Amino acid sequence: MSTSLLSDANRRLERALKYVKISEDASERLKFPKASLKVSIPVRMDNGSLRVFEGYRVRYDDTRGPTKGGIRFHPNVNMDEVQSLAFWMTFKCAALNLPLGGGKGGITLNPKELSKFELERLSRGYIDAIADFIGPDVDIPAPDVYTNPMIMGWMMDQYSIIRRQLCPAVITGKPLSMGGSQGRDAATGTGAFFVLAAMMQKFDKSPHETTVAVQGFGNAGSVIARLLFEAGYKIVAVSDSQGGVYCPDGLDIPSVQQFKNAARSVKAVYCEGSVCSIVENHQVLTNEELLTLDVDILIPAALENQITAANAADVQARYIFEVANGPISADADEILEAKGIYVFPDILVNAGGVTVSYFEWVQNRSGLYWTEEEVNQRLSRMMVTEADKIWRISQELAIPLRTAAYVHALDRLGDALNAKGTREYYVG
Ligand code: NAD
Repeated sequence: MSTSLLSDANRRLERALKYVKISEDASERLKFPKASLKVSIPVRMDNGSLRVFEGYRVRYDDTRGPTKGGIRFHPNVNMDEVQSLAFWMTFKCAALNLPLGGGKGGITLNPKELSKFELERLSRGYIDAIADFIGPDVDIPAPDVYTNPMIMGWMMDQYSIIRRQLCPAVITGKPLSMGGSQGRDAATGTGAFFVLAAMMQKFDKSPHETTVAVQGFGNAGSVIARLLFEAGYKIVAVSDSQGGVYCPDGLDIPSVQQFKNAARSVKAVYCEGSVCSIVENHQVLTNEELLTLDVDILIPAALENQITAANAADVQARYIFEVANGPISADADEILEAKGIYVFPDILVNAGGVTVSYFEWVQNRSGLYWTEEEVNQRLSRMMVTEADKIWRISQELAIPLRTAAYVHALDRLGDALNAKGTREYYVG
């Protein structure tokens, strides 16, 4: 059997389809991306040579609205990954009831190897290559792994140059000075925190007696770690691509953040001379070790396929909140289920990013901008409302939370697909 990410994603879809009344036409449509684009991006490097990069953009389904999804810069980016991420975006937008479909994009590269000028030329070149595939009413990109507001600003500017008019609504996650939204930078971690705090109330465990491990101390992971720390949870381990730190008594997250900013590596918190005095009692651990720590809550917030059939049996956490997209493989789902672990799925937990991206798009189109407080109030209301609905579906149908989230999204997608009918239906 194929082990592609997209076939894994489709396995989850198949499972959820058993619990929804949706036409066969609609379910067949959802198994395939609507449009997939692969482009070559020639970039003049600082040394005068020309290097060609491969880029992708996928629009998976736009039945409920223009497609929306991030742009990833990473060496592992490939069509299968981008299609899977676009698939997840489709269900995420439906689960949150956003009037948007699912898309995704990416460029295969290690961005750490490029200078800032090279990155800007690459970002602008990518927009040149996909300009006819995107647009404020068609497909609206946003940041993802290793892309940030600065890159979104360059991309919006390039699209505006091509269209010969300012088009802030073509891309979200922009700098505030270019039409970005208050709260967008922290939205994924903040939204995940709202879901976690609301869902943990269903279990008899107070924050200060709850231990947490966070894999991936980037945009999303560091924000949820900080918010949990501030709410009194005990964060015992965090990691990044270079490794992690572990302290059974709990880490001081603001210090970890400070050292990460200074040293660009969580490991440096432990390894750099003067830092060690602040974090004595800490141990270095690998990402693999972090995933199997004896903690209450595990938060994968890095990349996909971190928990697979190979290590799922060793996971000791009681609750997993998927801040990353696709950190658990479909095979691992069944193992974790058999162990009675509650897995709060990515299409719910990390939907804060796309939700505030949606808010940014709305603000760009209306020209009326909201305060951070307004953004977070709306975000909290939407995340907690949909999380409660998914929890109820899971309880009523006695199905895992992931399947419940797909059922919830499928109800909305199925309605929209059926309402559209087919062209043939209207002929004659
Ligand atoms: P980021 O680039 O800011 O952070 C990624 C972090 O993961 C970095 O700290 C990096 O060092 C670490 N990392 C990379 N490889 C690792 C590995 N093998 N083991 C452990 N850590 C590793 O990216 P981000 O925006 O925080 O995204 C993280 C995840 O959250 C991704 O799956 C992304 O798709 C998902 N996500 C992000 C957003 C968003 O708005 N940023 C929205 C929804 C979902």
